[in-house]
Amino acid sequence: MPAQRAATFTESVIREMTRVAAQYGAINLAQGFPDFPMPAPMKEAACAAINGDINQYAVTWGAPALRVAIAEKYHRWYDMTVDPDRELTVTCGATEAMAAVFLALIDPGDEVIVFEPFYENYGPDAILAGAKPVFVPLEWPDWRFDPDRLRAAFSNKTKAIVINTPHNPTGKVFNREELNLIAELCQQHDVWAITDEIYEHIRYHGSHHVLATFPGMRERTITISGLSKTFSCTGWRLGFAIAPPRESVAIRKVHDFLTVGAPAPLQQAAAVGMAFDVEYYNHMAQDYLRRRDRLCAPLAEAGFKFTPPDGAYYVLADYSAFSDRGDTEFAMWLTREAGIATVPGSSFHSPGATVPRYIRFVFCKKDDTLDAAAERLLKLPALA
Ligand code: GLN
Repeated sequence: MPAQRAATFTESVIREMTRVAAQYGAINLAQGFPDFPMPAPMKEAACAAINGDINQYAVTWGAPALRVAIAEKYHRWYDMTVDPDRELTVTCGATEAMAAVFLALIDPGDEVIVFEPFYENYGPDAILAGAKPVFVPLEWPDWRFDPDRLRAAFSNKTKAIVINTPHNPTGKVFNREELNLIAELCQQHDVWAITDEIYEHIRYHGSHHVLATFPGMRERTITISGLSKTFSCTGWRLGFAIAPPRESVAIRKVHDFLTVGAPAPLQQAAAVGMAFDVEYYNHMAQDYLRRRDRLCAPLAEAGFKFTPPDGAYYVLADYSAFSDRGDTEFAMWLTREAGIATVPGSSFHSPGATVPRYIRFVFCKKDDTLDAAAERLLKLPALA
């Protein structure tokens, strides 16, 4: 029999829907990965690193060149000073960073506050650490949260709160006022803030605020981000965690015994990307705005209800105009009959939660892919 801890969470529905998409030959608007190429200079740098024989283990907590490049970027963008030698751990994706941070900082029985809906990893991360997730709803359709519910979620067992901004799956970008309240509560209750800022550069509205730069937060915030979304290289598996020195020691130990380290040649190439100038980011944001509108227009025209996202590359859309099926059944039907794979909304909720009738679409796709999806979406009203 497998261990109990593995029995208490399910396989990733996001990745399952990718397999289902392949099975039915559907357009994959389920898993958030770009179907367009990553930046050429980074690909060239990766090939050069491999040909230059950088193929053995890097330093466990990250190749020096990459850690320095990350620290410089945080200084340039956020005026945040990061010591690359003592405060930075490079991991195999933000996913490993989050799991390693949970294992390094959270004890069995601790409570961790998570906004719901949530990116599906945080549930299993909490279970693996033996923690109890405590959920605070982001309310449909504009994804605000009730400050009193957040206050009430803090208890003497609370060890951490996870803040994902821009937010997957809702597209919410937490504003300064919301983050101020979170900062105040973290300080009042002596709680860690663990941020997931992987979509920091993919925004259509509002600024990205780095919680670690708020007064009193640097010493109690673990900032997690990565390369996957910013440089369209989800398969490279490169992420990082920025934490105070003492906590970084703990995170580095967990990371070391989980994976030893992230791929050495790709870390060299990642340093090249980290040094890109502001032009790169401006272009990327504009391209994503175009993609967002290219998906949102046909979604609205077909009859889905949703709030256009302020950031990230997902739309959580209500399908009750077409069907009163449950979300998993509807997502399967949509894949089979309409040739569009999505993720059922329940994958972003706690087990047993009452989930609105919504499914998640991604739009990190080429124009051709989005246009083909639009054609299928516009036929939906006749199909349903
Ligand atoms: N973050 C992406 C998503 O939400 C990819 C998830 C994954 O498969 N790692 O779809």
